Amino acid sequence: MRVTVVGSGYVGTTLAACLADAGHDVTAVDIDPDVVAALDDGRAPIHEPGLDDLLAEHAGDRLQSTTEYDSVPDADVTFLAIGTPSNEDGSIDLGGLTAAAEMTGEAIATDANGDAARAAADRHLVVVKSTVTPPGVTEILAALREGAGDAADRVELATNPEFLREGSAVDDFQHPDKLVFGTDSAWATERLESLYEPIVAGAGGDVPTIRTDPETAVMIKYANNAFLASKISLVNDLGNICKEFGIDAYEVADAIGLDDRIGARFLRSGVGWGGSCFPKDVDAIRAAAREAGYEPALLGAAVTVNDGQPERMLDLLDDRADVAGERVAVLGLAFKPGTDDVRNSRAIPIVDGLLARDAAVVGYDPVAAENMRAHFEAGAIEYADSAAAALDGAVAALVVTDWDEFAALDGEFDAMAAAPGADAPVVVDGRRVIERREGIAYEGLTW
Ligand code: NAD
Repeated sequence: MRVTVVGSGYVGTTLAACLADAGHDVTAVDIDPDVVAALDDGRAPIHEPGLDDLLAEHAGDRLQSTTEYDSVPDADVTFLAIGTPSNEDGSIDLGGLTAAAEMTGEAIATDANGDAARAAADRHLVVVKSTVTPPGVTEILAALREGAGDAADRVELATNPEFLREGSAVDDFQHPDKLVFGTDSAWATERLESLYEPIVAGAGGDVPTIRTDPETAVMIKYANNAFLASKISLVNDLGNICKEFGIDAYEVADAIGLDDRIGARFLRSGVGWGGSCFPKDVDAIRAAAREAGYEPALLGAAVTVNDGQPERMLDLLDDRADVAGERVAVLGLAFKPGTDDVRNSRAIPIVDGLLARDAAVVGYDPVAAENMRAHFEAGAIEYADSAAAALDGAVAALVVTDWDEFAALDGEFDAMAAAPGADAPVVVDGRRVIERREGIAYEGLTW
């Protein structure tokens, strides 16, 4: 099939590369010429394991990239995978997405004017991949129709929410737990089924597929993320109680995970969730519910617990050492391992808290330092080239991201120094990743 993917960020690039790999002819569109140049070169504009290999294989062949919308009229399916950031009040800023929808409509209309015979015959399927304002796609459909003008009644909008996780996006897309098709017609559903057929076959042929209306599909995405975020917050809440009692929360979690109704996954307590999805999606569903007259108390509590976790890490540090004027390492800047994404990373409130304590902060991350540079003022924090360099001379280290390489740290801690009045250098682990105990004052966040 001929596919156009509008927006080539974390989701769009993964979608475009995986669909090309599945045998489709894909055009990736982005307004950012640097993104298009990277894709043309067969390089991912973002860090995501496996993506560079797919791009190197298919770029210039089954995967084309461009800043133009020219491929839209000929596409069997056009995806919109544009960022949908939060407004101040937690609601979703649909500006980028509606602009892209309008341009998509205009591209369809332009073609309609150019070839009347095909215009009369063609029916266009535009699929929203982005996570949009719950519950619906009214604004996006309006923008698409506005752009399409006379061709508006030949354009159909569907939703197909994405559940991939950054850090394992390619594998998640190629082996989905489920597919959700939100459509208004059997024609659109069948087209999505054909499109995903090679993905389903590659995943072993047995992927549960939910065929529903566009609004329910959007709600499924929000319910999914609200549930996962709340599960982590509940585990963190219980973990905080364990810490107060001197109990290891991981021992408790392993035991409760044996109950089928609870499940063994997503029970690792720690410094909390971040990234571009959980915080934004939980805020958005809360804002939409509030607008509809319902205040979701539990989701509010999930956010409160999450917001408190970085401060609890800093409290554990305060109990052990005064870091004013001292060098403090922050290990991990990405919101999770495997990605360079720092949006809503827990490292941000941790660094803010350390700067408020007048510490000299040195951050280290294997791939996310460049993105973090854009977040803090130049010179506000130092960036080290390795965990060892960050630890050298530091009186404390706060571990924020569970990169595998941190588990291997050992002798590197010998280069740390105790803060004045402290017995030993302090390591506060927010992800239960550090193995070393000798010669350091080690504090686990919930154990
Ligand atoms: P992103 O910010 O990484 O990428 C968006 C891309 O769209 C950027 O490259 C930008 O240059 C481009 N763009 C903006 N306006 C454009 C326009 N008019 N025409 C063409 N390109 C344009 O965003 P993302 O993380 O990929 O997220 C996209 C959507 O998918 C969001 O709604 C998000 O909530 C949702 N989502 C994200 C994830 C995730 O893990 N990142 C997972 C599931 C769903």
